[in-house]
Amino acid sequence: MIIVLRPDATQEDLDHLVKKLKDVGLQAHISKGVERTLVGAIGDEAILRAMPLEAFPGVESVLPILKPFKLASRDFRRENSIIKVGSSEIGGNHIAVIAGPCAVENKTLMVEIAKGVKAGGANFVRGGAFKPRTSPYAFQGLEEEGLKYLALAREHTGLPVVTEVMDPRDIQLIAEYADVLQIGARNMQNFRLLKDVGMCKKPILLKRGISATIKEWLMSAEYIMAGGNHQVILCERGIRTYETETRNTLDLSAIPVLKKMTHLPVVVDPSHAVGKRDLVAPMAKAAVAAGADGLLIEVHSNPEEALCDGEQSLTPDAFKKLMDELRPIAKAVGREI
Ligand code: PEP
Ligand code: MN
Repeated sequence: MIIVLRPDATQEDLDHLVKKLKDVGLQAHISKGVERTLVGAIGDEAILRAMPLEAFPGVESVLPILKPFKLASRDFRRENSIIKVGSSEIGGNHIAVIAGPCAVENKTLMVEIAKGVKAGGANFVRGGAFKPRTSPYAFQGLEEEGLKYLALAREHTGLPVVTEVMDPRDIQLIAEYADVLQIGARNMQNFRLLKDVGMCKKPILLKRGISATIKEWLMSAEYIMAGGNHQVILCERGIRTYETETRNTLDLSAIPVLKKMTHLPVVVDPSHAVGKRDLVAPMAKAAVAAGADGLLIEVHSNPEEALCDGEQSLTPDAFKKLMDELRPIAKAVGREI
């Protein structure tokens, strides 16, 4: 249920309502909008129906949430969610750009690439320290050593760090170093991992599963939010189709579809979607034109030698050129980058 408070409802009214909901074992999620405060009451529907919620002081109306995803739904929060990370944000007017190598490879290269993406205009630096590789014989990442190099890259550039977590046992460690935790496509329905990052205080970049529908993806976001962590950023990274010319098929229509269904920010990763360097720029431009709140771009200063995903990585120069080309497109859709 969504409980809509009257504009003149007091903090006491809100506290009283939340206490009553919690007393009967329900969860109360507060969404403070510009005009109205909403309380999402989640739990046993029978208990909810039996409560005379409309009689509570400060309550204007009570609406059922018909969608299976509740906290992620636009019904629960009408304004776009803006996720703040240090002095950067995702979901506001500024289009956030996350850039860096697929994997953290060594200290020098990580700092060099971070400086390169910063010079090109990136707002976040990325790099995988724990890598989900198809083959167990492929480079698996530097683990904690890689996290240290990411923290060093942040020290040199001031850019917040985005990195992947694959296992619930690593959440605490990764959260000590990273500013945003990424859940990769292969783990979008790892429910244990989703529940555990739901208890974490850091924002979560949730990638779309390789063959996941938008509803399934939003249900995964709901898992994280139900744990109390409402700082979820969705990332479209291409889905598996019958087409083999590209690594995956970028679902651009997911952007406007999500904008209707959810208040959460939507980032697009054209690099993993197309898998080929020369296709990254056109799809990044299309994503910005279609309303993406951010981009995730793989950048490597020596793509031929990259330990992972070199074929889809831009050089820092190509990244800077792309950023320059994106500016007028962002402006045309009322945004900045
Ligand atoms: C990545 O971002 O490095 C990655 C592994 O992406 P995905 O989970 O989308 O394949
Ligand atoms: Mn990659």
